[in-house]
Amino acid sequence: MRRTNHLKVGLGIIACAVCISAQKFDLKNLNAQDWLEVGKNVVEAVRPMKEDEEIQLGRQLAARLAGTFGVLKDEAWTQEINLVGRVLVPYSERPNLKYRFAILDTDAVNAYSAPGGYIFVSKGLLKQLSSEAELAGVLAHEIAHIANKDILREIQKSNLWKAGAKVAISGSNLSSDQEELLGKLTDASWDTLVVKGLSKEDEFKADQDGAKNAQKLGYDPYGIYDFIKRLEPMEKQPGENVKIFFSTHPKPSARTAELQKFFNKKGWSPGTLARNQDFYQSLKSQHPL
Ligand SMILES: [Zn+2]
Repeated sequence: MRRTNHLKVGLGIIACAVCISAQKFDLKNLNAQDWLEVGKNVVEAVRPMKEDEEIQLGRQLAARLAGTFGVLKDEAWTQEINLVGRVLVPYSERPNLKYRFAILDTDAVNAYSAPGGYIFVSKGLLKQLSSEAELAGVLAHEIAHIANKDILREIQKSNLWKAGAKVAISGSNLSSDQEELLGKLTDASWDTLVVKGLSKEDEFKADQDGAKNAQKLGYDPYGIYDFIKRLEPMEKQPGENVKIFFSTHPKPSARTAELQKFFNKKGWSPGTLARNQDFYQSLKSQHPL
């Protein structure tokens, strides 16, 4: 008896759902043009974010990162990260985007890439590095996140984008609806990048792409490996400066293990290409961070 009642309630809900959708679309009386429109709506509901929208979102996120941590205005270091970063771009999987590089004024060890080409490394990270090959590996890793659209993929999976995809977020004069959506998407991107971190698969892939593209430019691909290896002893008791880095990335030992497998496959060994250690060390001593 009880079962029958449940069934009736269930059927009632279904009937009601049909009646709502029939009222909304009146499927029987649609002409050919209307069918095209219905199809368009379905496609638009899951459309990928366009490049100018990605850049708009990235700019918002970059402004928030810069506002939160501050930007270090050291000419020598800014020049260094821009030189190394820009020569890496042609070797990346997305070379036609305009990339920008800046230093966050914090001792916390970290690096961030916002969609659309905005890349930040922290002062604390630059201090941790010991060669230009390591810097190249880190920057190439961040470029890879943007080229692989890692944050964007997370955002596009969200209900926020599914609901908001009909509202374009590019252009100079945004309506209040567009502003609202852009603000919410920036919040979600911040959450992915700064609070939760990306998936470990995305991090391993960016490590490999970073090593590969630094190698193409002529740097020792072991640069990024050496930097991550240096963090391994801190795994058990992360200090204040690496706490966020550790909570938003896979364990350093897991990353070096994955990289080692990749190097073995490639047949690469350390020390065969440029490391520019002396240059980096002299930059550190001449321009203390
Ligand atoms: Zn990463």
